Amino acid sequence: MTSRRKVKIVATVGPASDEAKVLQQLVNAGVNVFRMNFSHGTHAEHLRRYELIRNVEEQSGRPLGVLVDLQGPKLRLGELATGKLAIAPGDVLRLGLPEPDSSSDLIPLPHPEILEVLTAGSTLLIDDGRVRLRVISGDGKSITAEVVAGQELSSRKGINVPDVELPIPSMTEKDRADLAFVMEHIEADWVALSFVQRPQDVIELRELLGDKMAIMAKIEKPSALTHIDAILELVDGIMVARGDLGVELPPEQVPGVQKRLVQRCRECGIPVVVATHMMDSMVAAPVPTRAEASDVANAVYEGADAVMLSAETAAGNYPVAAVAMMSRIISEVEKDPHYLTLLESAAPQHEATTADAICAALREVSRVIGSSVTVTYTSSGFTSLRAARERPHSVLLSLTAAPAIARRLSIVWGTNCVLVDSYNEDTAFNHLVVQAREISVELGLASPGDFLTVSAGLPLGSPGRTNVLRIVEVR
Ligand code: PGA
Ligand code: MN
Repeated sequence: MTSRRKVKIVATVGPASDEAKVLQQLVNAGVNVFRMNFSHGTHAEHLRRYELIRNVEEQSGRPLGVLVDLQGPKLRLGELATGKLAIAPGDVLRLGLPEPDSSSDLIPLPHPEILEVLTAGSTLLIDDGRVRLRVISGDGKSITAEVVAGQELSSRKGINVPDVELPIPSMTEKDRADLAFVMEHIEADWVALSFVQRPQDVIELRELLGDKMAIMAKIEKPSALTHIDAILELVDGIMVARGDLGVELPPEQVPGVQKRLVQRCRECGIPVVVATHMMDSMVAAPVPTRAEASDVANAVYEGADAVMLSAETAAGNYPVAAVAMMSRIISEVEKDPHYLTLLESAAPQHEATTADAICAALREVSRVIGSSVTVTYTSSGFTSLRAARERPHSVLLSLTAAPAIARRLSIVWGTNCVLVDSYNEDTAFNHLVVQAREISVELGLASPGDFLTVSAGLPLGSPGRTNVLRIVEVR
């Protein structure tokens, strides 16, 4: 029921995986969090998938996270009269708000907000960067642009505008409707916000969500990198969304950005997911390429909390094999003594809080006596996040009475959550210590002679106040 694997797996649900049997196989193969991608599918489909996931969770007996991914302002071309259009470098095109006169040569670009900010010299990338245009001039309603690279345009292809901060919020009307649906029908643990550009985007989502669901900012715009410190202060986690990020940035810059974001999240003590194209060839093949295996392993070596599968599990031919392969790659890295050494050498400074003092002590205790399990009692998840930030060798066992917190923590590095009966300031800490020992033994995490460390905040039940540490020997 608990796994010794530290790094977590997020798998996207879609037509290839939305049967109870397949979902169960995916969980058995190692999925910790399911992503529901609201760029595709109807509300009825999402609800059905959600119910299947919670059924599988009940059968598997371990908390599963649900991550709702809002589409955000994905910009697209409108419908081309001819469907497709052959182009060549040097061609001059006109793009703009659709005109009633269908005989015009105007290519429909139905986004007035972006037409207003495009100026001479701006770059427009279409179809995941396959087509590159340079704006020559614009009048607010339409632009003329020269083709720099590319061969074909077709209806509804995606557009990226990397070098201007767009005056659009990251939540569209569709996202608001999707979110209203989610809040009414789906107990999501995480909501991912696409194309975040600035802190205000996160603030707007927080106003709608309160603290009901955790917020993950998808970092896929250069302007999010510009404002990254302020964004990190507002979110509960981030996703390195390399699909769009690799279009908006020159691809050669993405690996360095990924490394920096992983380290920044570790410093902040919030989870980070590395996403997109990790095992893309497994959409069609039962094995990954060597470069893909290396990509997954490197994300793990860097210290990521979780790695993600998109089309591989949503629409591919080998969803279960993709998860199993990912799990094997992760486990192999975790067996390498170099892995924990690397994480140790990148350990961030402790903050001057009782929680960090306890977490520093946890690490030291485990080093000196080799304790096998680090137990944290948590009501808000905070203590477990701080313990995970240490990236310790020992198994992290997080005990909480709140199912929503257990599910939310399922994305966090190393954290194994088990639900316990609720406790409050009248519960004896001793009782919790005995319980922690029983659970550890029951799960096979500790046997006679082993040491556990147990931490909590006294008085019990007051969140965010970790202040005790007990060393317990299993007899
Ligand atoms: P998407 O986000 O799959 O929703 O586009 C992830 C990414 O861009 O990498
Ligand atoms: Mn994206």
